[in-house]
Amino acid sequence: MQEIRNKIEALREVLHDHNHRYYILDDPIISDYEFDQLLQQLNELEVQNPDLTDLNSPTRRVGGGVTKSFETVPHKYPMYSLSNTYSKEELMQWEERLRKSLGEETQIEYTCELKFDGASISLTYENGILIKAITRGDGLQGDNITTNVRTIKTVPLKLKSDFPKFFEIRGEILLPWEGFHKMNEQRAILGEPLYRNPRNTASGSLKLQDSSIVAERPLTCFLYSLAGDNLPVTSQYDALIKAREWGFKVPESARLVNSIDAVFEFITYWEEQRKSLPYEIDGIVIKVNSLFLQEELGFTAKAPRWAIAYKYKAEQASTRLNAVQYQVGRTGAITPVAQLEPVVISGTTVKRASLHNADQIEKLDMRIGDTVFVEKGGEIIPKITGIDNHNRGKHEDRVLFIENCPECNSPLRRVQGEAQHYCSNELSCPPQQIGKIQHFIGRKAMDIEGLGGETVGLLYKEGLLRSIADLYQLKKEQVLPIERMAEKSVANLLEGIEKSKEKPFSKVLFGLGIRYVGETVAKQLAREFKSIDRLALATLEELTNTEEIGDRIAQSVLDYFASTKNQSQISALKNFGLQMQALESEHNFHDDFVGKKFVVSGVFEVFSREVLKSEIENMGGKVASSVSAKTDYLISGEGVGPSKKEKADKFGVTILDEKSYLALKQKPS
Ligand code: AMP
Ligand code: ZN
Repeated sequence: MQEIRNKIEALREVLHDHNHRYYILDDPIISDYEFDQLLQQLNELEVQNPDLTDLNSPTRRVGGGVTKSFETVPHKYPMYSLSNTYSKEELMQWEERLRKSLGEETQIEYTCELKFDGASISLTYENGILIKAITRGDGLQGDNITTNVRTIKTVPLKLKSDFPKFFEIRGEILLPWEGFHKMNEQRAILGEPLYRNPRNTASGSLKLQDSSIVAERPLTCFLYSLAGDNLPVTSQYDALIKAREWGFKVPESARLVNSIDAVFEFITYWEEQRKSLPYEIDGIVIKVNSLFLQEELGFTAKAPRWAIAYKYKAEQASTRLNAVQYQVGRTGAITPVAQLEPVVISGTTVKRASLHNADQIEKLDMRIGDTVFVEKGGEIIPKITGIDNHNRGKHEDRVLFIENCPECNSPLRRVQGEAQHYCSNELSCPPQQIGKIQHFIGRKAMDIEGLGGETVGLLYKEGLLRSIADLYQLKKEQVLPIERMAEKSVANLLEGIEKSKEKPFSKVLFGLGIRYVGETVAKQLAREFKSIDRLALATLEELTNTEEIGDRIAQSVLDYFASTKNQSQISALKNFGLQMQALESEHNFHDDFVGKKFVVSGVFEVFSREVLKSEIENMGGKVASSVSAKTDYLISGEGVGPSKKEKADKFGVTILDEKSYLALKQKPS
């Protein structure tokens, strides 16, 4: 037993170290494959020896724990806020106050740090092990979100070197731009409203109930201050260096300087440079470096006297609101857009700004002719932040949110609890129609060769296309007169459309553009219900009983099939010969696969995970992403997700490695 315990502990140690090299130092010394193998080894040992489990084992990074509601816990050391300034004059006044308190002749050093724009967090470590992660909350108490924070790879679960026995460390959890944009690309594909900025998305992510979803979000954590009794440091800068030694991600950008002029230099430098940082900062934090002087200066009710945040102005301008226009998206969502008297903000001319929704317009009591403040900050599109009260438009010119669609005049609809208005005319509103056809022909749906989004727009303008069914009635003589349509391209287009009739049912289903039915869900539905007729009859319960399908998707499917217009579109498509059922001949059904539920995890030698999944589906199996009591097989490759394996053991799911999977497949059916 002791031997196994030692082995497990040694493996954890080694893996923590490789994690640190990979995520903190950016300097791995083994390949991902080797890492996965070690992790796998550890995982096996942990599964065989459940009494040696450790919540901070490197195998725990994938999440799995679900928190229904987060417990509120007090902070041992309060989390203060920072006083803010936007001007260098105020910064000099701050320095003067310091000198007054500390004595003119005191030599004051400052640390200058970036002010990361994310969600603040306090981590508690005991004997070098992460035991608690609490949000700032109101500064005195916050939410215990340890389960979620444990999944963030840059948060060390176990420390190195000579850390204190018990201490807290504060930092910021952020979502770098790249990850933020990736998440939004996904939302765009699903026709869901985009996330507005990384900060809100980061703090929203931390409050998710399912930690395995948090694990998939590309969050990171930077640390910037220590709290505790008898800490082994005498200055803020030492604290940063020590924290780095103990294994925390402490950005290299912090500087120790000895004059307020040098502070200004730092501020000026980052004012430009921040634009090329991979994440968002909203200012600079300046701290008196000596902890001894910090103690002497103390706190006000809200903030330390020894620190101050210099905030960069989100570049702002004021200009006249000329009009409000309304845009209609593919899903019918209405976005109000302010039309402005052109104004230059940070080098670009701004003519339009986003207004979020009807509530914002009402709250601001906006009127045409108002002088409005426009800001270009962390958001993607400039936004209106307020109205100049000295320069108001007339009361009778106030902006009243439209009640009818600007494109088709249908009444707008607002779902209870949602801020967005939608055009109710899903089937014949022009931007919705064009958008739907463009979605249908898209690469991930029907992938119609010879037909692009722009051509769809042209054909629509000519009155040749109103719905996806119209595609299948296009005639050569109709298309030929259209601009840029040569004989050859028309032939290609028609051939592409003809060929699309062979595209499998799941692609057709995805192409229909049912709200919330993305690629994976379409596949899932096609597999479960086999044909459009069967799917159209599905009940809410049948739908929600399908793996990965929740209430929201189920309701949207029901709504879709309830519409008579949709029903007639489907029967038209059927008559044109599109695939409306999962053809058995498309598949190589195998008795041991049909109706069985598979989960695939890890890396395989012979095939990629994607190939393996589609092979299973072709043989009649279903692939789900998480192991449940309904799962039949877990196909486990190198580095299989530890929580998957754990659940498989718990539910008695058969675990197949690559070899035994091949054997199953080759067994005569
Ligand atoms: P505010 O939210 O404007 O009161 O600013 C205070 C917050 O700035 C703190 O709660 C931290 O979350 C955050 N912050 C970001 N970077 C730093 C840093 N380097 N040092 C201290 N606080 C920081
Ligand atoms: Zn409309």
